[in-house]
Amino acid sequence: MPPGLRAILAAFGLLVGAGCAVAIAAPGDEEAIGPTAGPSITAPAADTIPPAGGPVIPVDGENGVNRSGKGDSRLVQSLFGRLFGGAAGDDAKKRALLAAYPGAFTIEGNEVVFPSGVRIVWDDRRQKTPAELLTQADVEDMFVYPYPLAREGAGAPPRLADPGRIRNEAFFRALYGGSQQAVAATVTRVPWVPALGGGAMTVTTRFGVAERLKRVSDDLERLPPQFHRYLAPPAGGFVWRAIAGTNRLSVHSFGAAVDINTAYSDYWQWDGQPEGGDIPFRNRIPLEIVEIFERHCFIWGGRWYHYDTMHFEYRPELIPACHR
Ligand SMILES: [Zn+2]
Repeated sequence: MPPGLRAILAAFGLLVGAGCAVAIAAPGDEEAIGPTAGPSITAPAADTIPPAGGPVIPVDGENGVNRSGKGDSRLVQSLFGRLFGGAAGDDAKKRALLAAYPGAFTIEGNEVVFPSGVRIVWDDRRQKTPAELLTQADVEDMFVYPYPLAREGAGAPPRLADPGRIRNEAFFRALYGGSQQAVAATVTRVPWVPALGGGAMTVTTRFGVAERLKRVSDDLERLPPQFHRYLAPPAGGFVWRAIAGTNRLSVHSFGAAVDINTAYSDYWQWDGQPEGGDIPFRNRIPLEIVEIFERHCFIWGGRWYHYDTMHFEYRPELIPACHR
Protein backbone atom coordinates (compact mmCIF):
# COMPACT_ATOMS: atom_id res chain seq x y z
CA MET A 1 0.00 0.00 0.00
CA PRO A 2 1.45 3.40 -0.94
CA PRO A 3 2.51 5.59 1.99
CA GLY A 4 -0.28 7.77 3.17
CA LEU A 5 -3.00 5.63 1.69
CA ARG A 6 -4.20 4.61 5.11
CA ALA A 7 -4.57 8.26 5.99
CA ILE A 8 -6.50 8.84 2.80
CA LEU A 9 -8.67 5.86 3.53
CA ALA A 10 -9.27 7.24 6.99
CA ALA A 11 -10.28 10.46 5.33
CA PHE A 12 -12.62 8.37 3.21
CA GLY A 13 -14.32 7.38 6.41
CA LEU A 14 -14.82 11.02 7.23
CA LEU A 15 -15.80 12.04 3.73
CA VAL A 16 -18.50 9.49 3.25
CA GLY A 17 -21.42 10.82 5.15
CA ALA A 18 -24.22 8.97 6.76
CA GLY A 19 -25.49 6.47 4.23
CA CYS A 20 -29.03 5.39 4.76
CA ALA A 21 -29.62 1.71 4.83
CA VAL A 22 -31.73 -1.27 4.07
CA ALA A 23 -31.59 -3.69 6.95
CA ILE A 24 -30.73 -7.28 6.07
CA ALA A 25 -31.55 -9.53 8.96
CA ALA A 26 -30.79 -12.96 7.53
CA PRO A 27 -28.45 -15.13 9.61
CA GLY A 28 -25.34 -16.84 8.30
CA ASP A 29 -22.08 -15.66 6.78
CA GLU A 30 -21.31 -14.81 3.16
CA GLU A 31 -22.10 -18.39 2.31
CA ALA A 32 -25.31 -18.71 4.27
CA ILE A 33 -28.29 -20.23 2.55
CA GLY A 34 -30.31 -18.01 0.29
CA PRO A 35 -32.03 -18.06 -3.10
CA THR A 36 -30.01 -19.29 -6.04
CA ALA A 37 -28.98 -16.56 -8.40
CA GLY A 38 -29.54 -16.71 -12.14
CA PRO A 39 -26.90 -16.07 -14.78
CA SER A 40 -25.91 -12.49 -15.34
CA ILE A 41 -23.56 -11.23 -18.00
CA THR A 42 -22.68 -7.60 -17.51
CA ALA A 43 -23.70 -5.52 -20.48
CA PRO A 44 -21.92 -2.34 -21.46
CA ALA A 45 -23.60 0.72 -20.07
CA ALA A 46 -25.07 3.18 -22.53
CA ASP A 47 -24.31 6.16 -20.34
CA THR A 48 -20.55 6.25 -20.37
CA ILE A 49 -18.72 8.77 -18.26
CA PRO A 50 -14.99 9.16 -17.76
CA PRO A 51 -13.39 6.22 -15.96
CA ALA A 52 -11.96 6.45 -12.48
CA GLY A 53 -9.27 9.06 -12.41
CA GLY A 54 -11.22 11.50 -14.52
CA PRO A 55 -13.44 14.26 -13.26
CA VAL A 56 -16.40 13.30 -11.13
CA ILE A 57 -19.49 13.93 -13.18
CA PRO A 58 -22.88 13.52 -11.55
CA VAL A 59 -24.95 10.75 -13.09
CA ASP A 60 -28.33 9.36 -12.26
CA GLY A 61 -27.52 7.17 -9.30
CA GLU A 62 -31.03 5.86 -9.02
CA ASN A 63 -30.61 3.16 -11.65
CA GLY A 64 -30.10 -0.08 -9.83
CA VAL A 65 -30.03 -0.29 -6.08
CA ASN A 66 -28.34 2.78 -4.82
CA ARG A 67 -29.00 2.82 -1.10
CA SER A 68 -26.11 4.71 0.35
CA GLY A 69 -24.61 8.18 0.30
CA LYS A 70 -24.01 8.23 -3.42
CA GLY A 71 -22.49 11.66 -3.93
CA ASP A 72 -19.85 11.23 -1.27
CA SER A 73 -18.97 7.72 -2.32
CA ARG A 74 -18.39 8.89 -5.91
CA LEU A 75 -15.88 11.32 -4.53
CA VAL A 76 -14.18 8.44 -2.77
CA GLN A 77 -14.05 6.37 -5.92
CA SER A 78 -12.47 9.32 -7.61
CA LEU A 79 -9.83 9.36 -4.88
CA PHE A 80 -9.08 5.69 -5.46
CA GLY A 81 -9.07 6.38 -9.15
CA ARG A 82 -6.46 9.09 -8.78
CA LEU A 83 -4.25 6.78 -6.77
CA PHE A 84 -4.53 3.73 -8.97
CA GLY A 85 -6.39 4.90 -12.05
CA GLY A 86 -5.52 6.14 -15.45
CA ALA A 87 -4.23 4.05 -18.31
CA ALA A 88 -1.23 2.78 -16.32
CA GLY A 89 -3.45 1.68 -13.45
CA ASP A 90 -5.80 -0.03 -15.86
CA ASP A 91 -2.94 -1.93 -17.48
CA ALA A 92 -1.64 -3.01 -14.07
CA LYS A 93 -5.05 -4.38 -13.14
CA LYS A 94 -5.31 -6.27 -16.42
CA ARG A 95 -1.83 -7.71 -15.97
CA ALA A 96 -2.69 -8.76 -12.42
CA LEU A 97 -5.85 -10.54 -13.52
CA LEU A 98 -4.17 -12.30 -16.44
CA ALA A 99 -1.28 -13.48 -14.27
CA ALA A 100 -3.59 -14.57 -11.45
CA TYR A 101 -5.49 -17.04 -13.65
CA PRO A 102 -2.93 -18.05 -16.28
CA GLY A 103 -4.37 -19.23 -19.55
CA ALA A 104 -7.99 -18.92 -18.44
CA PHE A 105 -8.87 -15.96 -20.66
CA THR A 106 -7.46 -13.11 -22.69
CA ILE A 107 -8.31 -9.44 -22.47
CA GLU A 108 -9.06 -7.88 -25.83
CA GLY A 109 -9.53 -4.14 -25.54
CA ASN A 110 -12.44 -3.69 -23.18
CA GLU A 111 -13.48 -7.34 -23.04
CA VAL A 112 -12.40 -10.39 -21.07
CA VAL A 113 -12.62 -13.27 -23.55
CA PHE A 114 -12.86 -16.91 -22.46
CA PRO A 115 -12.10 -19.91 -24.70
CA SER A 116 -15.78 -20.89 -24.34
CA GLY A 117 -16.70 -17.76 -26.26
CA VAL A 118 -18.00 -15.92 -23.19
CA ARG A 119 -17.07 -12.24 -23.44
CA ILE A 120 -17.41 -9.98 -20.40
CA VAL A 121 -17.03 -6.22 -20.32
CA TRP A 122 -13.82 -5.16 -18.57
CA ASP A 123 -14.84 -1.59 -17.67
CA ASP A 124 -18.31 -0.14 -18.18
CA ARG A 125 -16.86 3.28 -17.30
CA ARG A 126 -19.61 4.02 -14.81
CA GLN A 127 -18.78 5.47 -11.41
CA LYS A 128 -20.66 3.49 -8.80
CA THR A 129 -21.67 3.87 -5.19
CA PRO A 130 -20.56 1.16 -2.74
CA ALA A 131 -24.02 -0.42 -3.01
CA GLU A 132 -23.88 -0.39 -6.80
CA LEU A 133 -20.41 -1.92 -6.77
CA LEU A 134 -21.82 -4.94 -4.95
CA THR A 135 -24.60 -5.58 -7.44
CA GLN A 136 -23.34 -4.10 -10.71
CA ALA A 137 -19.57 -4.56 -10.64
CA ASP A 138 -17.72 -4.87 -13.90
CA VAL A 139 -14.47 -6.83 -13.87
CA GLU A 140 -12.30 -3.74 -13.40
CA ASP A 141 -14.38 -2.71 -10.37
CA MET A 142 -13.05 -5.77 -8.49
CA PHE A 143 -9.85 -3.75 -7.95
CA VAL A 144 -11.57 -0.63 -6.59
CA TYR A 145 -10.52 -1.14 -2.96
CA PRO A 146 -6.86 -2.04 -2.42
CA TYR A 147 -6.43 -5.19 -0.34
CA PRO A 148 -4.20 -4.66 2.76
CA LEU A 149 -2.07 -7.66 3.70
CA ALA A 150 -2.01 -9.07 7.23
CA ARG A 151 1.60 -8.02 7.69
CA GLU A 152 0.44 -4.42 7.34
CA GLY A 153 -1.21 -4.87 10.69
CA ALA A 154 -4.59 -5.06 12.30
CA GLY A 155 -7.22 -2.43 12.24
CA ALA A 156 -10.75 -1.59 11.28
CA PRO A 157 -11.26 -1.30 7.52
CA PRO A 158 -12.07 2.18 6.21
CA ARG A 159 -15.78 2.94 6.02
CA LEU A 160 -17.52 0.90 3.31
CA ALA A 161 -14.21 -0.44 1.94
CA ASP A 162 -14.67 -4.14 1.10
CA PRO A 163 -11.56 -5.24 -0.84
CA GLY A 164 -12.43 -8.50 -2.56
CA ARG A 165 -16.14 -8.36 -1.76
CA ILE A 166 -16.73 -6.59 -5.07
CA ARG A 167 -17.17 -9.34 -7.66
CA ASN A 168 -18.43 -9.66 -11.21
CA GLU A 169 -20.45 -12.84 -11.04
CA ALA A 170 -20.26 -13.59 -14.77
CA PHE A 171 -16.47 -13.60 -14.47
CA PHE A 172 -16.54 -16.15 -11.65
CA ARG A 173 -19.05 -18.33 -13.50
CA ALA A 174 -16.79 -18.31 -16.52
CA LEU A 175 -13.73 -19.12 -14.39
CA TYR A 176 -15.14 -21.90 -12.22
CA GLY A 177 -18.41 -23.12 -13.76
CA GLY A 178 -21.82 -21.64 -14.40
CA SER A 179 -23.93 -24.17 -12.54
CA GLN A 180 -23.85 -26.29 -9.42
CA GLN A 181 -23.24 -29.37 -11.57
CA ALA A 182 -20.41 -27.77 -13.50
CA VAL A 183 -18.59 -26.71 -10.34
CA ALA A 184 -19.32 -30.00 -8.56
CA ALA A 185 -17.45 -31.79 -11.36
CA THR A 186 -14.28 -29.88 -10.40
CA VAL A 187 -14.23 -30.23 -6.61
CA THR A 188 -12.31 -32.52 -4.29
CA ARG A 189 -12.09 -33.09 -0.54
CA VAL A 190 -8.97 -31.68 1.10
CA PRO A 191 -8.02 -32.91 4.58
CA TRP A 192 -8.35 -29.89 6.88
CA VAL A 193 -5.79 -29.63 9.72
CA PRO A 194 -6.12 -33.42 10.21
CA ALA A 195 -3.69 -33.39 13.15
CA LEU A 196 -6.22 -31.16 14.93
CA GLY A 197 -9.25 -33.25 13.97
CA GLY A 198 -10.52 -30.82 11.36
CA GLY A 199 -12.00 -33.35 8.94
CA ALA A 200 -12.06 -32.12 5.36
CA MET A 201 -13.11 -29.19 3.20
CA THR A 202 -14.42 -29.47 -0.35
CA VAL A 203 -12.97 -27.00 -2.86
CA THR A 204 -12.33 -26.73 -6.58
CA THR A 205 -9.24 -28.14 -8.24
CA ARG A 206 -9.27 -25.25 -10.74
CA PHE A 207 -6.16 -23.03 -10.59
CA GLY A 208 -4.63 -25.33 -8.00
CA VAL A 209 -7.04 -24.16 -5.29
CA ALA A 210 -7.22 -27.61 -3.66
CA GLU A 211 -3.42 -27.98 -3.60
CA ARG A 212 -3.06 -24.49 -2.18
CA LEU A 213 -5.60 -25.19 0.55
CA LYS A 214 -3.63 -28.33 1.43
CA ARG A 215 -0.54 -26.15 1.89
CA VAL A 216 -2.55 -23.69 4.01
CA SER A 217 -3.62 -26.60 6.20
CA ASP A 218 -0.03 -27.89 6.49
CA ASP A 219 1.23 -24.45 7.55
CA LEU A 220 -1.63 -23.89 10.00
CA GLU A 221 -0.92 -27.19 11.71
CA ARG A 222 2.57 -25.92 12.53
CA LEU A 223 1.22 -22.93 14.47
CA PRO A 224 1.53 -23.10 18.27
CA PRO A 225 -1.40 -24.63 20.17
CA GLN A 226 -3.01 -21.30 21.10
CA PHE A 227 -4.04 -20.90 17.45
CA HIS A 228 -5.66 -24.30 17.04
CA ARG A 229 -9.12 -23.45 18.39
CA TYR A 230 -9.79 -21.02 15.53
CA LEU A 231 -9.29 -23.67 12.86
CA ALA A 232 -11.54 -26.61 13.68
CA PRO A 233 -14.23 -27.56 13.23
CA PRO A 234 -14.31 -25.78 9.87
CA ALA A 235 -17.61 -24.30 8.69
CA GLY A 236 -17.46 -25.35 5.07
CA GLY A 237 -16.12 -24.99 1.54
CA PHE A 238 -18.08 -25.66 -1.66
CA VAL A 239 -21.81 -24.99 -1.40
CA TRP A 240 -23.84 -23.61 -4.29
CA ARG A 241 -25.79 -20.82 -2.69
CA ALA A 242 -26.36 -17.11 -2.47
CA ILE A 243 -24.98 -14.67 0.06
CA ALA A 244 -27.41 -14.24 2.94
CA GLY A 245 -30.09 -11.67 2.17
CA THR A 246 -29.10 -11.32 -1.51
CA ASN A 247 -29.42 -13.07 -4.86
CA ARG A 248 -25.66 -12.83 -5.45
CA LEU A 249 -23.80 -16.12 -5.55
CA SER A 250 -21.26 -16.61 -2.77
CA VAL A 251 -17.74 -17.59 -3.80
CA HIS A 252 -18.44 -20.79 -1.87
CA SER A 253 -20.60 -21.64 -4.91
CA PHE A 254 -17.45 -21.84 -7.01
CA GLY A 255 -15.52 -23.97 -4.53
CA ALA A 256 -13.01 -21.16 -4.05
CA ALA A 257 -13.83 -20.12 -0.46
CA VAL A 258 -13.65 -21.73 2.97
CA ASP A 259 -14.87 -20.82 6.45
CA ILE A 260 -12.94 -21.66 9.61
CA ASN A 261 -14.43 -22.18 13.08
CA THR A 262 -17.54 -20.01 13.52
CA ALA A 263 -17.19 -20.15 17.32
CA TYR A 264 -14.47 -17.51 17.19
CA SER A 265 -15.69 -15.64 14.13
CA ASP A 266 -17.51 -12.38 13.66
CA TYR A 267 -19.88 -11.49 10.84
CA TRP A 268 -21.49 -8.11 10.36
CA GLN A 269 -24.93 -9.58 9.68
CA TRP A 270 -24.83 -11.60 12.92
CA ASP A 271 -24.32 -8.32 14.73
CA GLY A 272 -27.56 -6.95 13.31
CA GLN A 273 -25.91 -4.26 11.29
CA PRO A 274 -27.49 -2.63 8.22
CA GLU A 275 -25.51 -2.79 4.96
CA GLY A 276 -25.03 0.96 4.64
CA GLY A 277 -24.94 1.88 8.29
CA ASP A 278 -22.19 2.41 10.83
CA ILE A 279 -20.65 -0.99 11.50
CA PRO A 280 -18.19 -1.17 14.43
CA PHE A 281 -15.41 -3.59 13.47
CA ARG A 282 -15.12 -6.87 15.34
CA ASN A 283 -12.50 -9.58 14.98
CA ARG A 284 -10.99 -12.36 17.08
CA ILE A 285 -9.01 -14.20 14.37
CA PRO A 286 -5.22 -13.78 14.87
CA LEU A 287 -3.30 -12.25 11.98
CA GLU A 288 -0.87 -15.20 12.11
CA ILE A 289 -3.66 -17.32 10.63
CA VAL A 290 -4.53 -14.68 8.05
CA GLU A 291 -0.92 -14.40 6.96
CA ILE A 292 -0.76 -18.11 6.16
CA PHE A 293 -3.88 -17.96 4.00
CA GLU A 294 -2.56 -14.88 2.19
CA ARG A 295 0.76 -16.62 1.54
CA HIS A 296 -1.24 -19.11 -0.52
CA CYS A 297 -3.31 -16.41 -2.25
CA PHE A 298 -6.50 -16.49 -0.20
CA ILE A 299 -7.87 -13.14 0.96
CA TRP A 300 -9.63 -12.66 4.31
CA GLY A 301 -13.16 -11.39 4.97
CA GLY A 302 -11.78 -9.63 8.05
CA ARG A 303 -10.39 -6.95 5.72
CA TRP A 304 -13.93 -5.87 4.85
CA TYR A 305 -15.91 -3.06 6.45
CA HIS A 306 -18.69 -5.66 6.17
CA TYR A 307 -16.49 -8.08 8.11
CA ASP A 308 -16.78 -11.87 7.78
CA THR A 309 -13.81 -13.07 9.79
CA MET A 310 -14.29 -16.84 9.29
CA HIS A 311 -14.15 -16.39 5.50
CA PHE A 312 -11.18 -16.86 3.18
CA GLU A 313 -11.36 -16.95 -0.62
CA TYR A 314 -8.91 -17.57 -3.44
CA ARG A 315 -8.29 -14.18 -5.05
CA PRO A 316 -4.71 -14.11 -6.37
CA GLU A 317 -5.37 -10.96 -8.40
CA LEU A 318 -5.57 -8.96 -5.13
CA ILE A 319 -2.30 -10.19 -3.59
CA PRO A 320 0.81 -8.87 -5.38
CA ALA A 321 2.98 -11.93 -4.65
CA CYS A 322 0.32 -14.11 -6.31
CA HIS A 323 0.31 -12.44 -9.71
CA ARG A 324 3.94 -11.78 -10.43
ZN1 LIG B 1 -17.57 -17.85 3.91
